[in-house]
Amino acid sequence: VFSPPYVGRFAPSPTGPLHTGSVVAALGSWLDARAHAGRWLVRLEDVDTPRCPAGLGEEILRQLAVLGLQPDDAVTWQSKTSARYETALADLVARNLAYPCACTRKELAATQPDRTRHHALTYPGTCRPERGGLHGRPARAWRFRVPSGVQQWNDRRLGPMEQDVVRDVGDFVLRRADGLWAYQLAVVVDDGAQGITDVVRGSDLADNTPRQIQLQQALGLPRPRYLHLPLVLAPDGQKLSKQNGAAPFDEGHPLAVLHEAAGRLGLTGLPTGANRSDWLAQAVRAWADQTQSTMDPVFD
Ligand code: GLU
Repeated sequence: VFSPPYVGRFAPSPTGPLHTGSVVAALGSWLDARAHAGRWLVRLEDVDTPRCPAGLGEEILRQLAVLGLQPDDAVTWQSKTSARYETALADLVARNLAYPCACTRKELAATQPDRTRHHALTYPGTCRPERGGLHGRPARAWRFRVPSGVQQWNDRRLGPMEQDVVRDVGDFVLRRADGLWAYQLAVVVDDGAQGITDVVRGSDLADNTPRQIQLQQALGLPRPRYLHLPLVLAPDGQKLSKQNGAAPFDEGHPLAVLHEAAGRLGLTGLPTGANRSDWLAQAVRAWADQTQSTMDPVFD
C-alpha cells in the first residue's frame, strides 16, 4: 500500500536511561512500524558527546531488549556518522544556504531584551553574508539560512500545523561554536540517509518539525510522515525527562511498563496476564485498528 515501504525509527539521546516517558516513544514508534509491516531502526543520537555518559547507549539497547523491542537493522550511533554531517554542511555552504556566525549568546540576548528565560532567543540574521558577514570577528557557529514564509506540515495526530520559522526561531545552528553537530542537522541527514519514511516521537519535539522540513528541502531529501505522540507528564505537570531526573523504568516488570505505555498511547483492553510476545502481538493489532484512519498513503 505504501510507497516507499515503511521505515521507522526510535532515536534516543543517550543522556540517561529510558524512563516511562521515553518508553512511550519507543513503543509507539515500534508499534507503528509493526502495524505497517515496516522496519524499525534504532539510532543513538549521541552527537552531544559531553552530555552522553559512556555506556548509556548500551544500557538503552539492553532496556529495549528487556521490553522485547528489537531493531530490524544494525543500531547506528551519530558519533560514528559525523562524516555525513560534514558533507551536508559543506553542500549547504557551497550553495549559500549556510553561513558562519560570530555572534555570542550575550550579543544575541542584548538585541532581545524583552525575551524572558522561557523564550529561546531568535536569530536575526546578523552574520548573513549579504549583511556584511562576520564583520571581522572570528567564526563560531554555522547557521542555516531559513527560507521566509510560513512552513506548513501535517501531523497524523495533531493535524495541520504551521510555523513562521524566521519569526519564531531565525537562522538556526547546524554546527555549534564548540564544534559539535546540532541535533537539527544530524537528525535530518540521518533520517534521509536511513530512508526513514515515518517519524514517530514525543510531542515535545513537534516544534522542531518545520525546521527539519526546511533542511530536508534544502538538502533535497524526501519529507517523512510525522506522528507526535502524547507526552507523559510528571505529577507537577512538567515534562518527564532525563534532564529532570526521571527514574529508569522497572525492569523487573516489563509487561507492566509496556502496559502503562500502551495506556498513554490510548490502547485499552490489552491483556495484563499474557506473556510478552503475545501482549506485543495484540498491541500491534490494537494499534493498527486505532491508527488506520490517520495514515495518509501519499507524502505531502
Ligand atoms: N534524540 C532526540 C531525543 O532523544 C529525539 C530525536 C527524534 O526523534 O527526532 O530527544
